Amino acid sequence: MTYRYGDNRLPQIVIIGAGFAGLELVKRLNNTPYRVVLLDKHNYHTFQPLLYQIASAGLTAESIAYPLRRKIGSFPNVIFRVAEVTSVNTESKKVQTNIGDFDYDYLVIATGATTNFYSNDQLAKLTYTLKSVPEALEMRSAILKQLEAAVQVAKKQDEHPLNFVIVGGGPTGVELAGALAEIKKNVLPADYRELDPSKMEIHLIEGAPRILPTMQEGSSAKAKRYLEKMGVQVWLNAIVKDYTGKQLVLANDKTIAADHVIWTAGVKGATLPGIPAETIGKGNKYRTNRFNQLIGFENIFVLGDIATIEGDGNYPNGHPGVAQVALQQAKQLAGNFTRLHQQKPLKPFAYKDLGSMATIGRHKAVVELPFISFGGYLAWYVWMFIHLMALVGFRNRFMVFVNWMWNYFMYDRAHRIILNNSGKS
Ligand SMILES: Cc1cc2nc3c(=O)[nH]c(=O)nc-3n(C[C@H](O)[C@H](O)[C@H](O)COP(=O)(O)OP(=O)(O)OC[C@H]3O[C@@H](n4cnc5c(N)ncnc54)[C@H](O)[C@@H]3O)c2cc1C
Repeated sequence: MTYRYGDNRLPQIVIIGAGFAGLELVKRLNNTPYRVVLLDKHNYHTFQPLLYQIASAGLTAESIAYPLRRKIGSFPNVIFRVAEVTSVNTESKKVQTNIGDFDYDYLVIATGATTNFYSNDQLAKLTYTLKSVPEALEMRSAILKQLEAAVQVAKKQDEHPLNFVIVGGGPTGVELAGALAEIKKNVLPADYRELDPSKMEIHLIEGAPRILPTMQEGSSAKAKRYLEKMGVQVWLNAIVKDYTGKQLVLANDKTIAADHVIWTAGVKGATLPGIPAETIGKGNKYRTNRFNQLIGFENIFVLGDIATIEGDGNYPNGHPGVAQVALQQAKQLAGNFTRLHQQKPLKPFAYKDLGSMATIGRHKAVVELPFISFGGYLAWYVWMFIHLMALVGFRNRFMVFVNWMWNYFMYDRAHRIILNNSGKS
């Protein structure tokens, strides 16, 4: 069965993915002369930058996930379906999903990125990842189960090391390492009195010569200093070769004992079957021109983490995989849909870099703005303010604010509930 909706005289845009790019585009297509069909496999938008706080029991899932219908339910020309897209037929202009097919006049692919294990099945099977709310909840349960298991053998802590290893020294790895260090400092002494906190080890493994490799050297050095002060062991130039479930094996054959490994070391585009393979480039991302059009297709646009724009001299290797790129591309494309309707020429995308930042722990963050870089207290407050304001919806902002206040004054991570009883190793 194939679905078309609304006024048949209007062209139909199908948008796959309600992440930063897809949701921003839909908001801007509200009340325009297009019929819009938004498809996502979840019924909520995920604010990925705070996923690590779910995984480390600082926030609930509901405070960073936003029900899509609450945002777009009243838009007259938009419909939403919870549907997993399984393939695209570019000849018949159909999107195939688990609930049926959808016709399109224009297609927008905004499916984001997925974890890259670089073809290592062991890593895929045994390590924890952080790309979605279910993964964050699974990680939270696994961390808490690890602590419960450690209590059971507390008297033999030397023989049973309580080790957490995080692979990947980008912002996610750094933020998780900092959060685990705070659990070690604040939660263990209060709630796990039988454990000796000094025996809990946190290792952060990075293949490059510095952590936060996409930030300036000063920020990387500061972040490393902060982490080491918090008791995290930072490994640089360390490439992971394999994981046995108990031992992490590095390329130089050195091993690290680890019952719990978190993999944040790679991403790749979440491509869809049916789109011609020659449109896929580096990082498994779709190649587009500067109008966000998929190479070879005038009616297919690609936005956000899944896209690499070719021909932008300022970004010869494509844009960074961050929320601002996705949001700005969506805004640009919405303008281009208006231009298409008015039969005006399209405008090319030009990225405005607003800066980057990472938090490490209480009063410790690094911030790089276009005109200034700084760290410490102020950076931490700036990081919190910007993330709070970027959340979708007042309720979510309020919930996060209240939780952060609680955590700040009580030195607590209140959501330490084990929900998932499956284990990886
Ligand atoms: C843990 C983590 C922390 C991050 N921290 C930051 C940060 O601090 N600052 C920053 O700027 N960026 C950060 N990022 C990156 C940022 O979240 C991404 O750049 C941004 O989400 C990209 O937006 P997008 O719309 O391209 O994709 P996404 O936001 O990933 O959205 C993709 C959507 O597509 C849907 N989808 C995928 N495949 C299908 C399918 N087959 N059928 C139906 N639906 C599908 C998914 O459910 C999802 O809703 C972080 C990312 C992660 C994972």
